[in-house]
Amino acid sequence: MSNKQIRNIAIIAHVDHGKTTMVDQLLRQSGTFAEHEKVVDTVMDNNAIERERGITILAKNCAVSWKGTHINIVDTPGHADFGGEVERALSMVDGVVLLIDAQEGPMPQTRFVTKKALALGLRPILVVNKVDKPGARPQYVVDAAFDLFDKLGATDEQLDFPVVYASGINGWSSMEEGGQGEQWGPDMSALFDTILAHVPPHEGEADAPLQLQISAIDFSTFVGRIGVGRVNAGTVKPGMEVLVMEGPDGASHKGRINQVLTFQGLERVQVTQAGPGDIVLINGIADISIGVTVTDPLQPAPLPMLKVDEPTLTMN
Ligand code: GDP
Repeated sequence: MSNKQIRNIAIIAHVDHGKTTMVDQLLRQSGTFAEHEKVVDTVMDNNAIERERGITILAKNCAVSWKGTHINIVDTPGHADFGGEVERALSMVDGVVLLIDAQEGPMPQTRFVTKKALALGLRPILVVNKVDKPGARPQYVVDAAFDLFDKLGATDEQLDFPVVYASGINGWSSMEEGGQGEQWGPDMSALFDTILAHVPPHEGEADAPLQLQISAIDFSTFVGRIGVGRVNAGTVKPGMEVLVMEGPDGASHKGRINQVLTFQGLERVQVTQAGPGDIVLINGIADISIGVTVTDPLQPAPLPMLKVDEPTLTMN
């Protein structure tokens, strides 16, 4: 059994606070790409087809590698209009990175997602981004984030958040506030290391019965419906016979997994198995839907169904 080191994070940011640029930079600097390889386009905006289909969650998921650890980056819509989708995305992660523009400070759009993340018990890492801007006021941003978390009911542990100062566009990050240019970290190591240190690895037994909750659906004309979710326990393999359960009290039916894929950089790569904590894509189950648990027919371990609620207009 491979013992893959995994971290699962979501990056939360108000529009324009630099999420796309930051993910590009993480992809460029991560072990996923050889040095001579370059990410050609702006990664996360390059998904017109996905956007047309309205499947926003999948389009932007990717994975990077740092010091041998596989870091899945799950995209979250920044806006309250995507209420249920935010929760489904956050159900796959064990930590969140909150990016805030060093000049602007927290904005309303970050509030909604941050509130959901805090309510789910996730511990944020604050990234004060764009510290290169002349009008940057990093200390104000840290204080404002603290006040926001406090107002949103954060626990003491959540209030004791690590802070990374960064300029995504210039590709540097630092644990220290202040200074410009060469005084800053030369690269994104500070952010990568903080993710490894502060996002807990997912706990789950590789030899337990399979328990995989589907948090998103994608579609391909070649393989049909594709379920995406985090392996909570057990190991998922191509060809496996499984039980698809709509929660502990809901309907269930048998199915057979065809392929199993994981995220590597921007690619989806077929694997022979994936264990606890990894975020996988599975195909072969024709009618797979959001919220179900894919589990072992002999030892079913259904999780409660994920909520698929209607768009909400609540902005608090
Ligand atoms: P998103 O909407 O959160 O994905 O933000 P983008 O990554 O698209 O960035 C929004 C704008 O901010 C773009 O014009 C970027 O060039 C700019 N930007 C991103 N990161 C930085 C940064 O670290 N410093 C500065 N000064 N500008 C940045």
